[in-house]
Amino acid sequence: MCAMITKEDLIQDIKNLGVKPGDILHLKVSMRSVGKVEGGPKALLDALLEAVGKEGTLVSDAFINACPLPLNEEQKKCIADQHTPSYAGAFANAMIQHPHMKRSKHPIQKYAAIGKHAEQLCNKHTPESGGYDLLHEMAKQGAKNLTIGKKVAGVGTTHVAIDLLGFRRKQMNKGVLYKDENGNTKLAKVNWNGGCAAGFPKFIPHYRQSGGVIGEGPVGQATGLLTSMKRTLEIEMDILRENPRFFFCDDKACYSCQMTWEHSPKNPLSFYPRWLLRNMNSLSFSRIKRLLKTTKNTEKHA
Ligand SMILES: [Zn+2]
Repeated sequence: MCAMITKEDLIQDIKNLGVKPGDILHLKVSMRSVGKVEGGPKALLDALLEAVGKEGTLVSDAFINACPLPLNEEQKKCIADQHTPSYAGAFANAMIQHPHMKRSKHPIQKYAAIGKHAEQLCNKHTPESGGYDLLHEMAKQGAKNLTIGKKVAGVGTTHVAIDLLGFRRKQMNKGVLYKDENGNTKLAKVNWNGGCAAGFPKFIPHYRQSGGVIGEGPVGQATGLLTSMKRTLEIEMDILRENPRFFFCDDKACYSCQMTWEHSPKNPLSFYPRWLLRNMNSLSFSRIKRLLKTTKNTEKHA
């Protein structure tokens, strides 16, 4: 049986990566990858707070789900606020429940922050801001990204680079209701790019080669990657200026990368046959599964 991971183990792992007192950390955490932690996500949060100390700041992605527009009657009853849970996982929600948590004022891309610069960062991220503007601000303030997971999918600054270079894609028609400072209910629409996460890990070897990585090592049973946000942003900008398609994944049947960006290949003769083949496969597979289930049920009831 695996021994439980303690808060003290986690503090040691985090320090070994190069986290220092006073650090401003942007966090992306997969709690499941860390393993069995005594005290759960709260213990990892406490370990991180202890590692950065009183002068430090933690910021986690804690975005909320937007709904397809127009909203139905049920969705109109949900008003996003500072405590709306996030889809970003157990760690993000442990941050949200912390008594000293501040949440960014953005209605959908709601980062959760704790520590010295939490309020200042969150107040700057308003309904008028871009979805990832807070990460740009953190990069300017010398923050580090700490990604903890099975595999590192991205370090956050890629979204900032994409915005700064003016890449555009088809917007999703989604939104949420929130209350503005005067208590009026307003609709916030998704107005940022997002992107296909499968392409972002292509930058990681470049972060290593060009001084973006501060530390790499285990956090519990997960892999931790600590990077300089200022440096990863510079590296991404350099690469994307040369090759604007670098962040696209290699899957030629990926709709997001192949078809939705202004600079996507948008080659219907290459894309649609592959896309169709893939969807036909999944369709027949699910149909077979449904058929098998029906047979099994019939057998049970027979
Ligand atoms: Zn893709």
